[in-house]
Parts: sequence; C-alpha cells; structure tokens
Amino acid sequence: MLLNNPPLTPPLKKQEDNRMAYSGRFAPSPTGPLHFGSLITAVASYCDAKAHQGQWFVRIEDTDIPRIYPGSENHILQCLDAFQFEPDAEIIFQKNRLDIYEYVIEQLHQQHLVYACQCKRKILGSNHIYTGTCRDLALPFKDQAIRLKVNDQVICFDDLLQGQHCSNLQADLGDFVLKRRDGIINYQLAVVVDDFLQGITHVIRGSDLLDNTERQIWLGQCLNYPKLQYMHLPLAMNAHGSKLSKQNHAEALNIQHAPQTLAQALSALGQPPVDIDQPYKMLTQAISQWDRKLIPKGTEMNGIYQ
Ligand code: GLU
Repeated sequence: MLLNNPPLTPPLKKQEDNRMAYSGRFAPSPTGPLHFGSLITAVASYCDAKAHQGQWFVRIEDTDIPRIYPGSENHILQCLDAFQFEPDAEIIFQKNRLDIYEYVIEQLHQQHLVYACQCKRKILGSNHIYTGTCRDLALPFKDQAIRLKVNDQVICFDDLLQGQHCSNLQADLGDFVLKRRDGIINYQLAVVVDDFLQGITHVIRGSDLLDNTERQIWLGQCLNYPKLQYMHLPLAMNAHGSKLSKQNHAEALNIQHAPQTLAQALSALGQPPVDIDQPYKMLTQAISQWDRKLIPKGTEMNGIYQ
C-alpha cells in the first residue's frame, strides 16, 4: 500500500546507518537469566552472520519494564563476555530509545494507520480477534492503547528453515497493539524499528516467535522498510516436553562451563564437533565449518535439555 512512498525514516544516528549484505543480531529480553535455548539462538545468529561475512549486533529488548527480572541484564552481558562473542557495535538498550518509537507511532498516525483504543483486556478476553471496536472513534491518544490497522490480506514469508509460513492478520488477530495503555512500547514495534535502524538483513531466533513474524512484516511494509530474511530455529525442550524458557525456570547458563556448553549448543544445532578450547577459538572453528543445512528441521529439537 505505501510501497511507492519514500521510507518513513526516524532520525538515523550515523553509526546505525550501516546496512550491508548481511547483518544479523541477537536480541534477548532481560525477563530472566539466559538459558541454553538463548545460547542456541546466540550461537546460530553469530555463526551464520560470520560465515556469510556479515556483521552481528546485540540488542537488549527491555521496553517491558514490569517484566524485567532483576540481575538478568547483567547475566546476559556476563554470558556474552564469557562465551566471547564479539558484537560489531556497541550493545543497544531499547529502554533508551523510547523517543524513537514514539516518533514512529506519530509517523503512522499521520498516515492514518494507527488509532487509540480504550477497550480493556478484561472485556476483550485473552484469546480474541480484535474486531476494530475503536477503529473509527478518533479517540485522543493520551493514556490509551495504540493499535495498528491490518487488512484482509494473506501475508507469507519463506523461512530459511521452516519453509513458507502465512497468516491473514485480520482473520487471525485483528488490529494489534503497538503501545499499551500504561505507555509500554510493545515488542512488535520496537523490534521492527530497531531491525531497520540497525540495518538488520537476517533475523535468526527461536520458533516460538514464528507466529509474530507476519505482524512484523506488515508493520515493516506500512513503514516502507526493506524486507528481511527469517530463520526460526527449533526449540530446545526439557524433560517435561516444554520449551526451555524463563517461565519454565530453565537453568541459567553457567559461565564456568562456557566451553562445554558451547560445544553442546553446536551439537544441538547439528554442526560438526569443535575442539574444546577458549570459546572464541571454538566459535572461529564453528564458523569455518558452519552449515545451515545441518540444523535440525521442525520447530522442536529432539534431545532433552535443562
Ligand atoms: N526479545 C525477544 C526474546 O527475548 C526476541 C526478539 C527477536 O529475536 O525478534 O524473546
């Protein structure tokens, strides 16, 4: 719909305008300590970027202040250090960028693509398709949730591991929230804006985010941002058959055992073994033998992890 317009570009800071053939990222939320599942995402995004002569960035997704788990931000930074990943730019923190997201909401407002919504979650229920009750009410934006309009159109993308994935946002979800009524910027907005501003070309992350992707593609189209490539990794599962997650109390990564854990992560990703050594040497070897085709297919891994 807006594809012929010039890109709606928030003020770019110079160091962020570094689009190249391949830029990847690792974007953890500090809602709990990093676990083995997070390490798999970090390793895959790092090795795939470096094996394609790309850059790799780290972004801390901390806009949802009430969900931040004390100490987890520190644990993420300690792990990145201990596993000797080398980001190609300073780590960015989304909580310092709220003015950028507000600016983008205003851009969308000017295009009549967003509106204020006063519907309470309690009334809507949790598993609902939003029917657009507030779409034409022209409510003032202050202290209301902000929703992005979607239309009756099937959005598809070709995932590098999962194949084609499609969704009709209107039928499956309805207009969705970019900013909550408590002022918190939603993940969907922050992730799309920052992937654009950091010049990201390839998004590698867990399959639990597969169903978010069409929303992000739609928002990117509304903002006239370039298309991205996606690879959604199979999830590491625990002995109870649930994915490792902060909510399921997955064990925090132990930085004392970084080399052994790194070797395990590479093996979970189906990659050839590497010699146990200092992590950066192991990563260098892993990059030299990295092969996407060896990553297990499907949305869940077979082994049992903690
Ligand atoms: N911050 C998200 C998480 O920790 C990941 C976002 C993404 O990779 O797009 O689950």
